[in-house]
Amino acid sequence: MENFDTRAIQKLDSAHYLHPFTDSLELSGRGARVIVRGEGIYVWDSEGNQILDAMSGLWCVNVGYGRASIADAVYKQMMTLPFYNSFFNTTNVPAVQLATRLTELAPPGFSRVFFTGSGSEGNDTNLRIVRRYWDLMGYSERHIVISRHNAYHGSTVAGASLGGMAGMHAQGGLPIPGIVHVMQPNYFECGKGMEEEEFGLMAARSLEEKIVELGADKVAAFIAEPIQGAGGVVIPPANYWPEVQRICDKYDILMIADEVICGFGRLGTMFGSTSFGIRPDLMTFAKGVSSGYVPMGGVLVGDRVGDVLVAKGGEFAHGFTYSGHPVACAAALENLHIIVQEKLVERVAETTGPYLKQQFAKLAEHPLVGHANSYGMVAGLNLVRRKGERLHDHELFAPSEGVGMKCRAHMFNNGVIMRAVGDRMIVAPPLVMSTDDIDEMVKRIRKSLDDTLADL
Ligand code: PMP
Repeated sequence: MENFDTRAIQKLDSAHYLHPFTDSLELSGRGARVIVRGEGIYVWDSEGNQILDAMSGLWCVNVGYGRASIADAVYKQMMTLPFYNSFFNTTNVPAVQLATRLTELAPPGFSRVFFTGSGSEGNDTNLRIVRRYWDLMGYSERHIVISRHNAYHGSTVAGASLGGMAGMHAQGGLPIPGIVHVMQPNYFECGKGMEEEEFGLMAARSLEEKIVELGADKVAAFIAEPIQGAGGVVIPPANYWPEVQRICDKYDILMIADEVICGFGRLGTMFGSTSFGIRPDLMTFAKGVSSGYVPMGGVLVGDRVGDVLVAKGGEFAHGFTYSGHPVACAAALENLHIIVQEKLVERVAETTGPYLKQQFAKLAEHPLVGHANSYGMVAGLNLVRRKGERLHDHELFAPSEGVGMKCRAHMFNNGVIMRAVGDRMIVAPPLVMSTDDIDEMVKRIRKSLDDTLADL
């Protein structure tokens, strides 16, 4: 590793670099951890600590760190054509190849792709597309998009509005008009006094109630993550999605599946929608499409919408300088090649996903863990003060105790990165993990749970 002065970097960091989702004042007192290198499922900080990255960077490094073939593809593309735009009747070869490849990997009925630079821009694009679609169909009143509380759809103005994060809405007068939110299918937090099935139906029917309240002729689309990620790995009851799909069909509401986290193998299917029988009209993608090696995102456009946009729409007045960026497309093409070649989706479905589930079930026996669950390569566990007989009998910690953040600090110190969403600790490990890697991860998690318990 290159030798440099960590303290000097930290000082410059707090003087000049405004971090995303960070209390800069608090961070400047402490100094940021400087991550300098990655290989496989591990990253290293500037002090030489090796840390198992159980969050895949930010739910994105699906193929793991240090992939020379992606670096080679990027280098080659940069030397051939580092940039050209796709405006004004031009195109570039990697963009065409990637659009084609994505439509091959998508469920049937997705013939077209719109590229962006991120998931947020993908969801901004969705908002423009669904409203444009209904205008072109002669239903200009159908402009409202329904989302869910605690959803995460990005941090641009439209992305944060589509998302259901109260803390984001509180800053800057969000959501923008025409976006409303319904209940999230979070049985642990919202289902007290109910059986899981009963709760699943109730959560789905909150969508129907909202549609009826607004009038179906005002509603353009419903947007949702197959499994809510940033909201805390919210795995919905099994009857939730079939009921939501029935409701969208009944009222002819477009379905937008935000696949930014669930896409490209994380749930053991190429797209998370397939895991839950969702039939989306539009799918947002980002993160895993390039494993985060370079920024890349977009929307897979289903034919119901795409055919109308193309046949009737004339010029679509929307796009980004970096839509179809040749270097990002070259990186994504190689990344998708790795995912298919190494059978990472099958590995999650058949081997590592089921193994992770078993190991998290064992973690649920820890005295601090009231509930643990997983799906493919996402998992979470809820820290509780005292365990009760049933799920909703556990005694929880007060939010002010910050137990999740304390636990997260122990995780870092024990060489594993987990994310804390309140007192729910979550993982989304690289899809290249082996069962031995999962054992190592769980060993470090268990030690950190012990250390947290000892603190209390
Ligand atoms: N949608 C979902 C489901 C996400 O998890 C995220 C990012 N965590 C986004 C959208 C936004 O993506 P980006 O940060 O690339 O704009």
